[in-house]
Amino acid sequence: MRVYFHTFGCKANQYDTERVRQAFDASGAVVVDDPALADLAVVNSCTVTHESEVKLRRFVRHVAKGSHARTIVMGCAAALDDGSIAALPSVRAVVANAEPADVLRAAGVEVRGLRAAPLPAGTKSRALLKIQDGCDEHCTFCATTLARGANRSRPVDDLIEEARALAEHHAEIVLTGVHIGTYGRDSGLGVRDSGHASRAPRPEARPPSLGELLESLIAAVPSVRFRLSSVEATEVDDTLARLLIDAPRHLAAHLHAPLQSGSNRVLKRMGRHWYTAESYRARIEWLAERLPILGLGADVIAGFPGETDEDHRASIALIRALPFTYLHVFPFSVRPDAAAARLAGQLPPVVIRDRARELRELGEAKAAEYRAHRQGQTADGVVSGRQQGRLEVMTEDYLSVYLDTDQWDGRPRFEVTVN
Ligand code: SF4
Repeated sequence: MRVYFHTFGCKANQYDTERVRQAFDASGAVVVDDPALADLAVVNSCTVTHESEVKLRRFVRHVAKGSHARTIVMGCAAALDDGSIAALPSVRAVVANAEPADVLRAAGVEVRGLRAAPLPAGTKSRALLKIQDGCDEHCTFCATTLARGANRSRPVDDLIEEARALAEHHAEIVLTGVHIGTYGRDSGLGVRDSGHASRAPRPEARPPSLGELLESLIAAVPSVRFRLSSVEATEVDDTLARLLIDAPRHLAAHLHAPLQSGSNRVLKRMGRHWYTAESYRARIEWLAERLPILGLGADVIAGFPGETDEDHRASIALIRALPFTYLHVFPFSVRPDAAAARLAGQLPPVVIRDRARELRELGEAKAAEYRAHRQGQTADGVVSGRQQGRLEVMTEDYLSVYLDTDQWDGRPRFEVTVN
């Protein structure tokens, strides 16, 4: 059987697809990179925006038109399917998770000897390590928590073992998940001693926090640079902050800290009860004062239901005041399964679009300003890909630097000048 894979959405989805891909590989299937050559297409779906589901449907139709492949749709949008994904042309099955065994079964492939985690893949210098899945929060705009369930953290031992294997082929490991700042908060996890003498001591009565997990990973795998994929600003505890400040070779100076809104009124309506505009600002300013180099990104939602012009201005003012180096702006879109779909005060599309544009322009201006400031300075670079004969190098502060491949001596990590 020839199988083609396609992933929508976040790094957690990319990780999940890789696990499924390796399960098919182990079962004797041939992985192809063109759907026209495939007997089966496996599509990992995302439900974060209306746009992501539109793209999913378009893609499934495109596969059905251009190949004889049947399609399996798995992941977040599949988990919330009301039957409309199943009804798309050539869809063989909709799998409400991304478990390799379930996807193999749906494909009619015998399930045997599955690995818990993916093997290091390919020759890429950056790898993903999923440390937890799910989320215990209920942000009113988010259907991910419905699709992926409650927070489930992976044991420290398993993560160390996987990180060691990844480090044999990768210079950077990105810790990913759905809500990684809550790592270890689910009951009963990781309380057992992992037996790693080099690990920092911690009270055995409670599970490790994200910062403590990172301490263990750094002690066990000091050769790689770790990076956090996305973490709430107020969940950067003192251990994490200390690692960011004191161990730049081991933990990249980069935070992607979802903001969503700079208005407390809107944050409340979003159900984001664990921070305010003030506490977010205080944590970021504290860190920025101590980190001369810091890649700082945020997700922001434009035009949330009930957002007034004053709320929007509060977001703009907060973003202006903080040293963001890029922004991800999401125009609010109704997710039928999320509570925000039922909130009063839904805004006209033109208002949402205009606010999103203003936020994007501000994000682009801040990114350009930061890039100009970093130009000519040295950075800790890790090769992240090749594009049109050029090498893409990722710096600790999440800038892409491009070099001619003939300037490269083959090392996956080296000092680079920001251009
Ligand atoms: S914190 Fe909120 S936005 Fe993030 S996954 Fe959990 S519910 Fe969704």
